[in-house]
Amino acid sequence: MDITHIEHIGIAVKNLDESIKYYENVLGLKCYAVEEVTDQKVKTAFFMVGQTKIELLESTSPEGPIAKFIEKKGEGIHHLAFACNNLADTLTEVEGKGIQLIDKTPRKGAEGLDIAFLHPKSTGGVLTELCEHK
Ligand code: ZN
Repeated sequence: MDITHIEHIGIAVKNLDESIKYYENVLGLKCYAVEEVTDQKVKTAFFMVGQTKIELLESTSPEGPIAKFIEKKGEGIHHLAFACNNLADTLTEVEGKGIQLIDKTPRKGAEGLDIAFLHPKSTGGVLTELCEHK
């Protein structure tokens, strides 16, 4: 297991443009990328804070996971992403420790990262993403 840092914090928002204003105008951060991940039915916006990113997530479909999350819980923190070395091995190790995986194998996330989610049922209620820079 080789977790190196918090890669990003994912935040579910209803309206990307409106939310970007808060991070830029109030907190003085700069949105450096907006990217659509069709696979996950989201549009994302990124801000760098030190070596950690803030990832805003707006659903592009009422059926998407982010739309469903907001329906249930409202806007707010959606997931926590840890950077690790060798994601495939890390997943095997985590599963061996009894953690329920949402993604059994790495898949492509925003910014060209390989990502995989762990189920919040086995992580104390925190939807956890593991990712690896390739
Ligand atoms: Zn993420």
